Amino acid sequence: MISSIDDYRSIVGDEVIHTIFRKAGKVAHKHIVHINSTFQGGGVAEILASLVSLMNDVGIFTGWRILHGSPDFFSITKKFHNALQGGNVNLTSIKKELYTDYNEYFSRFTHLNHDLVIVHDPQPLPMIKYYRKRQPWIWRCHVDLSNPNPALWEYLKSFIIRYDMVIVSNESFKKNDLPVPQRVHYPCIDPLSAKNKPLDKNTIKKYLNKFGIPNGKPIITQISRFDKWKDPEGVLKIFELVKKEVDCRLVLCGNLAADDPEGGVIYQRVLQKAKNMKDVIIILEENNILVNALQSTASVVIQKSLREGFGLTVTEALWKRRPVVASNAGGIPLQIIDGKTGFLVKPNDLEGFASKIIKLLKEPELAHELGENGRAHVKENFLITRSLLDYLEVIQEFFD
Ligand code: UDP
Repeated sequence: MISSIDDYRSIVGDEVIHTIFRKAGKVAHKHIVHINSTFQGGGVAEILASLVSLMNDVGIFTGWRILHGSPDFFSITKKFHNALQGGNVNLTSIKKELYTDYNEYFSRFTHLNHDLVIVHDPQPLPMIKYYRKRQPWIWRCHVDLSNPNPALWEYLKSFIIRYDMVIVSNESFKKNDLPVPQRVHYPCIDPLSAKNKPLDKNTIKKYLNKFGIPNGKPIITQISRFDKWKDPEGVLKIFELVKKEVDCRLVLCGNLAADDPEGGVIYQRVLQKAKNMKDVIIILEENNILVNALQSTASVVIQKSLREGFGLTVTEALWKRRPVVASNAGGIPLQIIDGKTGFLVKPNDLEGFASKIIKLLKEPELAHELGENGRAHVKENFLITRSLLDYLEVIQEFFD
């Protein structure tokens, strides 16, 4: 069933719904379009799937376009993504040409007569160059921009300065060297989506069974794209340490995103590393109910990101009252207040991760308390209605 804004009343209360309608009324009949580069896989697609539908439901004509890339285009944009998060890149003219060519090609047949264009992440960033600009454009960057590769940043800035606003996910991602106004919006989850709605015990059991996850031992899990920044190999090492103290099972569940060609290689490497490990289950699936079932049932959820724009997987787990042990990286500390809504650990501190996980496995009351606090924190700050309000405010600013 497709949710409508009324369905959120029982979760967020009448005042929030009233504010949404009041703000939406002021910008109704505007045509907005979101552009990103994948329909499935990763946090941006997850957010847009709910946001675009709800924006329409409250009266804003909102479209969604997905940039058509090829494997070589996405291999370049993934390199850019890595370099934006601090890695190296050899910025050759071939790479730049492929990057801009696909954007130019897509823009030829993607007619944008909207009142406002919102471009997500670096893949479609150069599109702006190929239009006669007749409306405001926003670049919504979901990537951790705290330490970008300087050469790449300089190159991307040539596109960014054409925009009217940049929105990032964290105060620390704002850039001093940009003349463009910058905002912070927190990403959000949809509490009514298949991934986050409450599941009954039988459904959970059925799905865990279907994907070969036996019961009988506490489950610890990380649910993330197979991506080096999510460090699944580090999670295996942590599990070895935990397993020495507490008998439990590790489920590493991941998907691949169409715009991330490195995923298959990382997946194979993880499979190889885990080949002889007992009680490790590795799942490669695109299945929201499975993710929901795992997040609803795990004794501890891990998010061992080395860099992280925000980390919706953390939000999803907190919403399901799970105790989370996660890296002190990117947007995660906005969600995890150490010792209150979960535990924060330095990204490479394997012992630190293991000791917090062991503590939570041994102290269910503490786990319960953190889970309850986490749920309240998400309810207050990171539900889709918040995101909707943030966008309505920005739209209103442009048309006041
Ligand atoms: N996800 C999923 N299946 C998986 C792994 C991840 O559906 O096997 C979803 C996850 O539930 C979350 C999104 O992909 O909604 C990942 O968003 P996040 O912000 O954590 O990371 P990103 O992939 O955008 O870097």
